[in-house]
Amino acid sequence: MIKYLSLQSITALHDTEISTAVERVIRSGWYLQGQQNRLFEENYAQYIGTKHCITCGNGLDALCLILRAYRELGLLKEGDEVIVPANTYIATILSITENQLTPVLVEPDINTLEIDEQQIEQAITPRTRAVMLVHLYGRCAYTSLISNICQRYNLLLLEDNAQAHGCQYGEKRTGSLGNAAAHSFYPGKNLGALGDAGAVTTDDEQLTQTIQSLANYGSARKYEFTFKGINSRMDEIQAAVLNVKLQYLNEENQRRKMIAKAYHEDINNPQITLTKDNDRDNVHHIFPIFCPSRNRLQQYLKDSGIETMIHYPIPPYQQQAYKEWNERHYPITEFIHQQELSLPCNPTMTDEEVQFIIDQINKYQ
Ligand SMILES: *Cc1c(COP(=O)(O)O)cnc(C)c1O
Repeated sequence: MIKYLSLQSITALHDTEISTAVERVIRSGWYLQGQQNRLFEENYAQYIGTKHCITCGNGLDALCLILRAYRELGLLKEGDEVIVPANTYIATILSITENQLTPVLVEPDINTLEIDEQQIEQAITPRTRAVMLVHLYGRCAYTSLISNICQRYNLLLLEDNAQAHGCQYGEKRTGSLGNAAAHSFYPGKNLGALGDAGAVTTDDEQLTQTIQSLANYGSARKYEFTFKGINSRMDEIQAAVLNVKLQYLNEENQRRKMIAKAYHEDINNPQITLTKDNDRDNVHHIFPIFCPSRNRLQQYLKDSGIETMIHYPIPPYQQQAYKEWNERHYPITEFIHQQELSLPCNPTMTDEEVQFIIDQINKYQ
């Protein structure tokens, strides 16, 4: 059986180094807000290309902390609108509604699967204050047009970079393209911890201080509380693991790119559509293919010993959690959710496995 993703094999790639780093933390007796977090904040800010990085508990917290901090700073207020892609993972939308802001859903472009830059301007109203990009599947959603629109309308440009660690736009990395970006180090992401972990990157000094304080009960100085904050911290153990794994991220993304290239060159079943690949700005967190008989294809591959996933079966606005939106229709988003199938694409796969997957898909009738 070829698993969709084996976290055991992913961790085994750097087993000794990770174990040594974790043991060092265990023996140090210092488990929160210590050296490993400071080091990772430095390393990751440098990697992404921002002045600051603030570690936190997980990716959803990172998203929420950005929006909450802008509320505290007076740049966002209750009822303000945030433009966001309709076809994202629900966490992006949750962070917006959690902060009493209004998500304005915009369809993706079917060719890129990212938010349709042409539809953003039409979605702007007098209450719009921000655009939240999601670099979904590991592809860059940022375009210069989007940046121009944000400047023209004085909107904050925010990034959900949970799926795109290492992705580039020209010389810059996603996570450094707007005012602030949220990152998740959930174990299955391209850069994954051995548990929950997240971070915010930004060049904004004031935002940095506000987020640091909000994530620490609203306190910048011990026993003095400026905000009604939360507790969202990265364990020292997770920071130590990430300090090891960050060193190998580019190499591992490179392996993903090679696998994706093989899929692109060799999958030629007329029932199956691949998206146009702009390899330069894609770190292939997820490799999506499209097929009208998606469920049957998934079963066929399972019977052939290949595990696949669907990202995602139900869009956020069709979830019970957002029942107030259940009557809405976004045809491109629905097409993606009905026909998408994600192939295994990760740095532990062998060439033989990749070839086997290609052969099985090409034989599908
Ligand atoms: C994984 C993910 C998140 C949430 O990250 P967690 O660390 O699991 O909270 C947010 N947005 C997107 C697009 C994601 O894929």
